Amino acid sequence: MARRWMHPLMAAWALVLAVSFAAVRGREAPPAEADDGVRGTVRAWLPDARRAWGSAVVRPVRATCPASASGPGWYDGDTHSHTRHSDGGGTVADNAAAAIRAGLSFLFITDHNTLNGRAEVAAQQRPGFLCLTGEEVTAGYGHANAYQADGSVAWEMGPQAMIRAAHRQGGILFLNHPYFPGFTWQADDVEGHHGIEVWNGLYSPGHEVNRRAFALWDRELNEGERLVGLAGSDAHKPAKVGNPRICAYLEALTPRAVHRAMRRGTLYGTNGPDVRFTANGAPMGTDLRVAPGAPVAFKIAARSAHRLTRVTLIRNGAVLREWAPAGPEKAIALSDTPTDRTWYRVEVADVDGGFAFSNPIWVETERAAGLEVARR
Ligand SMILES: [Zn+2]
Ligand SMILES: [Zn+2]
Repeated sequence: MARRWMHPLMAAWALVLAVSFAAVRGREAPPAEADDGVRGTVRAWLPDARRAWGSAVVRPVRATCPASASGPGWYDGDTHSHTRHSDGGGTVADNAAAAIRAGLSFLFITDHNTLNGRAEVAAQQRPGFLCLTGEEVTAGYGHANAYQADGSVAWEMGPQAMIRAAHRQGGILFLNHPYFPGFTWQADDVEGHHGIEVWNGLYSPGHEVNRRAFALWDRELNEGERLVGLAGSDAHKPAKVGNPRICAYLEALTPRAVHRAMRRGTLYGTNGPDVRFTANGAPMGTDLRVAPGAPVAFKIAARSAHRLTRVTLIRNGAVLREWAPAGPEKAIALSDTPTDRTWYRVEVADVDGGFAFSNPIWVETERAAGLEVARR
């Protein structure tokens, strides 16, 4: 079941990416402003000026989080955490405080089969920080996070009916940790899930539990599903919040923008390294349409606090190119000619256990889309 739509900010993106990386390299420089010609002023310094570079395992990013920082940019957040409303050790306020300490700009409280934390979540909004409600639908057939649903999603109705119920309530659903021992996802034949939590924070990214989830994602992408990949800390104690996390490109720090990024996949998962990935200037999470046989220009930029050990470009589930950088930064430009339906994603690893993965860029030729190339 393909869900396809185009990113409306493609034109602004190349500019934002270029300026934000320049800003990282010269962090003492004053904030740069640039006119994107469409939406007014883009404060392109925001994404990375707010990021500091901590250790690989628990990375205290963004030592300063200015309250005024709410414009277009990359924002760190965590899509999966628990409180005493289910089996977590802290309160909603404890998790929110931990998220702010960890440099997060947004945090989802996703307790098991309950939305009872909603009033406390609403009380945790701060300048430069959003606390948001989700629900971990928890059943014998597996666990799945529902976001944006108007109400609680009943697990008892079974996996497929549960997914439909989430949709009816305006929500989207991600399969959580599908290979977690004892909590494996049992219903392989479901349709309509929006994505997969491919990196569950209770395991390292290279652990079989997560590698199998990445492999499942790749298989479903190869079957034509437009699935978004998430990283989530699954924190049951406040200290775990934000490790790992997602970094999402938001038009503004608003709940609506966070949800849009999660729907599109304009985000990457990380425990430290940063990755930028564009095709013809369009960012991860984009559906790109090109003429048959036309090469696509890709740019990858990776950065970490530690020496990068590999940067991998994956095409349709197989390694297309892999680099072994000599330092903590790597910028790559290359072109590739896609077949009719091709997806690309990037993984980055560093010597200190840091890992990041981008969401895909989906490329479809006009032939595949059934378009008249010469209609004009
Ligand atoms: Zn779970
Ligand atoms: Zn959980």
